[in-house]
Amino acid sequence: MKLLEPVRIGNVELRNRIVMLPMHLGFCEDGKVGERITEFYRERAQGGVGLIVVGGCTIDKHSAYWGMVSLQDDSYIPGHRQLNQVIKSLGAKTCAQLFQAGRYATSRYSGIQPIAPSPIASSLTREVPREMTEKDIEEVIQAFAAAARRAVEAGYDMVEVIASAGYLISQFFSPLTNQRDDEYGGDFENRCRFGVEVIKAVRTAIGSDYPISVRLSGNEFMQGGNGSLEMARFAARLEQAGANLFSVTGGWHESRVPQITMNVPPGAYSYLARTVKEAVNNSQVIACNRINDPVIAEQFLIEGQADLVGMARGLMADPELPRKLEEGRWHEIRKCIGCNQGCLDAIFVGGSCRCLVNARAGREAQTRLRPVERPKKVLVIGGGPAGMEAARVAATRGHDVTLWEKEVNLGGQLELAAAIPGRQDFVHLIDYLEDSLVELAVKVETQKEADIGEIKRFGPDAVVIATGARPIMPDIPGIDSKNVVGAWEVLAFEPELGKRVVIIGGGAVGCEVALFIARMGTIDADTVKFLLLNEAEPVERIRELAQRGTKEVVVVEQDKNMGRGIGISTRWIILQELARMGVQLRPSTKVIAIEEDGVVVSDPQGRTEKIPADAVVVAVGSKPANSLYEEIKQAFPETYLIGDAKEPRKALEAVHEGFDVGNAI
Ligand code: SF4
Repeated sequence: MKLLEPVRIGNVELRNRIVMLPMHLGFCEDGKVGERITEFYRERAQGGVGLIVVGGCTIDKHSAYWGMVSLQDDSYIPGHRQLNQVIKSLGAKTCAQLFQAGRYATSRYSGIQPIAPSPIASSLTREVPREMTEKDIEEVIQAFAAAARRAVEAGYDMVEVIASAGYLISQFFSPLTNQRDDEYGGDFENRCRFGVEVIKAVRTAIGSDYPISVRLSGNEFMQGGNGSLEMARFAARLEQAGANLFSVTGGWHESRVPQITMNVPPGAYSYLARTVKEAVNNSQVIACNRINDPVIAEQFLIEGQADLVGMARGLMADPELPRKLEEGRWHEIRKCIGCNQGCLDAIFVGGSCRCLVNARAGREAQTRLRPVERPKKVLVIGGGPAGMEAARVAATRGHDVTLWEKEVNLGGQLELAAAIPGRQDFVHLIDYLEDSLVELAVKVETQKEADIGEIKRFGPDAVVIATGARPIMPDIPGIDSKNVVGAWEVLAFEPELGKRVVIIGGGAVGCEVALFIARMGTIDADTVKFLLLNEAEPVERIRELAQRGTKEVVVVEQDKNMGRGIGISTRWIILQELARMGVQLRPSTKVIAIEEDGVVVSDPQGRTEKIPADAVVVAVGSKPANSLYEEIKQAFPETYLIGDAKEPRKALEAVHEGFDVGNAI
């Protein structure tokens, strides 16, 4: 397949066309490359990736960000050198991404006021940057060049300059953030100038033997900013200045167009790579963003939309993806599901990356699986994510594992989550775990309810209780009425709800089930495309049909915030979507009673009213379902309680606990 064919970029030959894109991992506190980051990349290199882009590497004191690696001065070179030796000994090539955040930097981390082309605060930091003087401009250009020279000294095969996502170079190129009236602001050529000078300085610093990649937003996706055609023209100018590779991503961090979440169709932004590819002459182009499936990646290459394919989260989720492809083990690939629970949501709040589907990511050295010397007979009760992962890991290590699940299907709450619009990728995790259990000969029995007598007859050496949670039904007058239904039942069985629906509870499940109901009766993406291309309806009418369903949905929440429990990268998207679909959100509102024809509530001012409803959906949380635990624990000392059965939390905690217990038995 083309994805696995070698490719030459300048003087550098890659063993295949799969690129591990740079990730802000949050793995180092002092900017130095240490064991954690080295082991992380060792596994990705071992897994067969062609090129690993390390970074962003901060280039100066202004660009300091927590947990990032640095190339600010020569003291950082030895760590990078060691990392390069490890990666390159395993056959992958390396690239250092040079990072300057401009107005996205914050004095909270750097201790100094950020700098930018113009003093315009970003909506991310709300901090007004200092307008760069000509001296600042020259210093930053030289800092890029010096960091590039250090990268080459440390052994990197190429360097990448970041000009994407709203960082410094893109701030100079965008009329939104560049209001200068000198030669670095104003018309197209002037706004290009800073980026062009950076590339020229880097080229001078490293010579003609080393490729220069540019990480570029294919479209800023900002009102009044540069669109895809302007960005492609910019790419052509940067190519003339000395760039030979473009890694084309989506828009800015401030953009209100979703780019990285599960509701973005996989590969949706390949057209941006194609647009750049059509604008440049000899440079190669990497397609990026939400590419989690090698079939899609291969298609982009065959169709000529791009020359290489970039994955970051895809290789976080499965470092062995390239190797599995080579060996024809496609079905064993553990796909990134775009949930952001472990990676971006953690980084946005100053943490470090984990991964929902790969509990080893970021702790590679401590979590190697040890083969067991004396296999145990292990019984896992519950086939949700925690139970399946525990069974997978225990069986991989050589235990004799049986899994009992009381429902017809495996998957637990993941199955329900996958029914929600834009959350369908949870299915990939269920599929991966199910396939693994088959492969590992785990004895799975569904529709099998556990009781203590049955467990004793089975006689396990170790028991893992992963029986999940059950929904809480609040003590509200009228809760037993026939018009009341639980959120999980709605997702599982799609009962007839009538036209007016009130949802009690505006946390994660309440907001997501609201989306599920509001989407009923809308037209799907294929119909939108069909109507649009055939001009069958005016665009406005098509938009209306796509975002207005047949239900009137109201969500009532007693907290002042809606969507608690949804990760930071996804919450704004769900709230934006609910608003677009006309769902009425009622925060700070208390439910007093449920009646046959509506829900009586008290608003923030204490006024009482009845919201008309044909159906009332309850989504106020869940509690552990572990009634057998104490009895089992007494009979079998090696008993583990994991996942929601221990305490209802996110799927990431469930999978990680499953992994840890599976590795501890
Ligand atoms: Fe992908 Fe979720 Fe893992 Fe992040 S945490 S790499 S989005 S599966």
